[in-house]
Amino acid sequence: MKMTFPFLDQCEVLVIGGGPAGTMAAAAAARQGADTILLERQGFLGGNLTAAGIDTIYGLYSVSENPVKMIGGLSDELTDRLRSQNACYERRNTYGAGIGLTFDIENMKMVLEDMVNESGARVYYHAFAPEVYFDEGGTPAGVVVASKSGLQQVQAEILIDTTGDADVVARAGGRYEKPGEVGPVQSCTTVFFMANVDVGQAKAFGKQSMWQAMADGVENEKYDLPRTEGSFHATPNPTMIEANMTRIGNVDTTDVGSITEAEIVGRKQTQEYVRFLIENVPGFEDAYLVKTGCHVGVREGRRAVGDYVLTREDVLEGRKFPDAVIRCGQPIEDHHSGSDTRWVYVRDHGFYDIPYRCLVPQDLTNVLTAGRCLSATHDAHASARSSGTAMGMGQAAGIAAAMALQSDQTIREIDIADLQAKLREMGAPIERKGADGKDTNCVGRNITG
Ligand SMILES: Cc1cc2nc3c(=O)[nH]c(=O)nc-3n(C[C@H](O)[C@H](O)[C@H](O)COP(=O)(O)OP(=O)(O)OC[C@H]3O[C@@H](n4cnc5c(N)ncnc54)[C@H](O)[C@@H]3O)c2cc1C
Repeated sequence: MKMTFPFLDQCEVLVIGGGPAGTMAAAAAARQGADTILLERQGFLGGNLTAAGIDTIYGLYSVSENPVKMIGGLSDELTDRLRSQNACYERRNTYGAGIGLTFDIENMKMVLEDMVNESGARVYYHAFAPEVYFDEGGTPAGVVVASKSGLQQVQAEILIDTTGDADVVARAGGRYEKPGEVGPVQSCTTVFFMANVDVGQAKAFGKQSMWQAMADGVENEKYDLPRTEGSFHATPNPTMIEANMTRIGNVDTTDVGSITEAEIVGRKQTQEYVRFLIENVPGFEDAYLVKTGCHVGVREGRRAVGDYVLTREDVLEGRKFPDAVIRCGQPIEDHHSGSDTRWVYVRDHGFYDIPYRCLVPQDLTNVLTAGRCLSATHDAHASARSSGTAMGMGQAAGIAAAMALQSDQTIREIDIADLQAKLREMGAPIERKGADGKDTNCVGRNITG
């Protein structure tokens, strides 16, 4: 983009998007000493977790009988802070996604904000970045920010795209894939919350009975439910549940018309699921709808094409890479357009590595990416997109950006062993070979119960 706008701020590392990935990227870069700015279009941090209303972090542990820690460092600190506020607990996912950390959404907003502020990074809220601008040599030099202050510029040396939709990579001229054009796209979900629920009674009814009642209701044409599955979860609030049931297919999250339609359809579906729950599931008789998420939950937008593209085989075979920066044991969780969801597990319920190259978009020299716009195929993305994994990616990208600046190297030239050592020091369990040639784990906690 050639136009110039008034100057808002400048920094060394600019993180665009304050979801789980971006929040950790900003905190990690700032803690490494980089002058860091985080831009977020909402008025709070957390992305899907807080805005869409996802109440549980997955990806922190492997999915097995004896879970092993997958992500560590800043996510440990986040957990400790939430725990000290009595605002989270661990629970096992009923579909088999492993141990999750269920949290209170308002506490999550505050804890993430504290972590970023204490790191020294500067945050701008209500700051949407629709465009990238370039220096004379054609290298991305910052972004245009649209806010109530008008259109302004933020200048930066390294940009980290954590928008979930690879907005920055796309505008900077990097390669990306758009699901729906390249393969299918995961459906969107409007998450909703209901209160005054007898949660014990409702849980005792059982998921299979609820799904059967859904299927019967659809067959009898009593309810219009696109998904005859889905779940509701207890929350830290004793009478409130969070429900993940609606299904909106074929949404182009980067098209304003398509995403608007998704919001409308999601709210319509919510009314129908609320009616179904009150009329069919014991414990919901006196319940009422408290709220829907601030926006529809988006599972998949544009995916950056990086120096390496993670594949379905990498995931299912549990492949390891020399430039590993994150481990992931999440199954491929495919929310396709039918009435069910497909789950495919990593071999032996083990884990695979996400290589650093998946965070380095092709054709760009000073842009990194992290979170759900990583470089992966549709199937691999359906495993790697969990919020815990996104946090791990953000942390790795933030440290890598700071390292590049401090060593006066490009993001491709940094010493990967040094990056891995820094991650390990923070508590991230990256595999390495010991003197005896065997794989050893890093220091860090295992599951805490
Ligand atoms: C319905 C649903 C259920 C899910 N369930 C779970 C679950 O139970 N557990 C789990 O771990 N994961 C779950 N996920 C997946 C998980 O929530 C996401 O994959 C994760 O949030 C990805 O994090 P992220 O930071 O990459 O992206 P996001 O969380 O999407 O964050 C992106 C952030 O960038 C901001 N942004 C976007 N574009 C711009 C821009 N141009 N300028 C400025 N800001 C911008 C957004 O406002 C947002 O805050 C679920 C997802 C959905 C949709």
